[in-house]
Amino acid sequence: MKILVINSGSSSIKYRLFDMTAKTVLASGLVEQIGEQQSRLIHQTRNDRGDMAESVKTEAVADHRAGFERIGAALTESGALTDPRELSAIGHRVVHGGEEFRNPTLINPKVIDTIRRLSPLAPLHNPANLLGIEVAMQSAPQVPQVAVFDTAFHQSLPQKAYRYAIPQDFYETHQVRRYGFHGTSHSYVARQAAKMLDRPLDRLNLITLHLGNGASASAVKGGKSIDTSMGMTPLEGLIMGTRSGDIDPAIIFYLKKKTGLAGDEIETLLNKHSGLKGICGANDMRAVEKQAQEGDRRAQLAIEMVCYRIKKYIGAYYAVLGRLDALVFTAGIGEKSPLIRAGCCRGMAHLGIEVDSEKNNRKGKEAFDIQSENSGVRILVIPTKEEYEIAKQTIGCIQNRFESESAP
Ligand code: AMP
Repeated sequence: MKILVINSGSSSIKYRLFDMTAKTVLASGLVEQIGEQQSRLIHQTRNDRGDMAESVKTEAVADHRAGFERIGAALTESGALTDPRELSAIGHRVVHGGEEFRNPTLINPKVIDTIRRLSPLAPLHNPANLLGIEVAMQSAPQVPQVAVFDTAFHQSLPQKAYRYAIPQDFYETHQVRRYGFHGTSHSYVARQAAKMLDRPLDRLNLITLHLGNGASASAVKGGKSIDTSMGMTPLEGLIMGTRSGDIDPAIIFYLKKKTGLAGDEIETLLNKHSGLKGICGANDMRAVEKQAQEGDRRAQLAIEMVCYRIKKYIGAYYAVLGRLDALVFTAGIGEKSPLIRAGCCRGMAHLGIEVDSEKNNRKGKEAFDIQSENSGVRILVIPTKEEYEIAKQTIGCIQNRFESESAP
């Protein structure tokens, strides 16, 4: 059973082809700088030895349609796919599903219209996701296509967690509320955590920390998200590569008055020039750690601030959950930075959270745990597999559909 997963951005399309029966990746890659003179197609596929071999092509790719054609050609030329009809389905990552989509959804014209209607809530993402959907539907009309939403996992939040304390009308008329993001990652690592602990997910209380370029924390009770740090948009919450995370909203009005910056300029400031980049000039955690090691005070402060913010969320979600079975680190920083993992957990032995520094310094592609013998809470490092989760949810969606269609 072959499933193609597509993540379409404004100037790039990422893809990954899975054989879900053998549970392997057959090919993956991306077309980037679409619309520019020099677009790049990076394609990885399995060679005869079973290793992933990479090829890079540089050529003009005018638009998403041309990009999708290049992906189709790369998949067939490399032998990963002989015909699009071999695909059981295509799964599309869609960032914002609003309150309309709680589950992976088979795409039809009505679904496309709804995703378009939700675009004001995610103006950078949903239109780009839609472009990918539309070209894929035209290129492979016979293949079922499924939208998997970043927000869907957090639709289980109770109202007290998702409402903002502003007049009700803004929620009812303008859908202003917390939605949360990185849902496929939080739900995937929560399930993996249950496997590692060898306990049923519906009996577990977890805090999942997705720490990548974008970062978010979730409180997961019995497999359901009950709170999460990102809000109506992915700007709220933890300190990120270039995003501020939580700030006093009054700063925006103060900056407007003091500096004369327009609203959209402040939006760009908070999304693109803040976070790690705003504090110390670098947005990549590897560079920040290196600068800090070399004695750069600003980089050292950035690391302290990042860890302090995460620690505050751990404390808050611990209180909300009442009992904590495991703390889960995932995504680029969560999986690969012992320094940040240790920093977030420092001084929490009295809450039963204690890292073993030797275990924490381990490197590996597989999941591992890093808690000390005294730690009452398990501390897990679990590589996230968002595309694989999208592929799994895509299968679930089409199988449900066929089951319900064949039901008497
Ligand atoms: P992601 O968005 O999940 O790809 O994560 C990207 C972030 O992970 C960037 O800030 C990277 O600098 C960070 N990262 C990747 N590898 C490492 C590493 N070995 N140590 C620290 N941070 C890392």
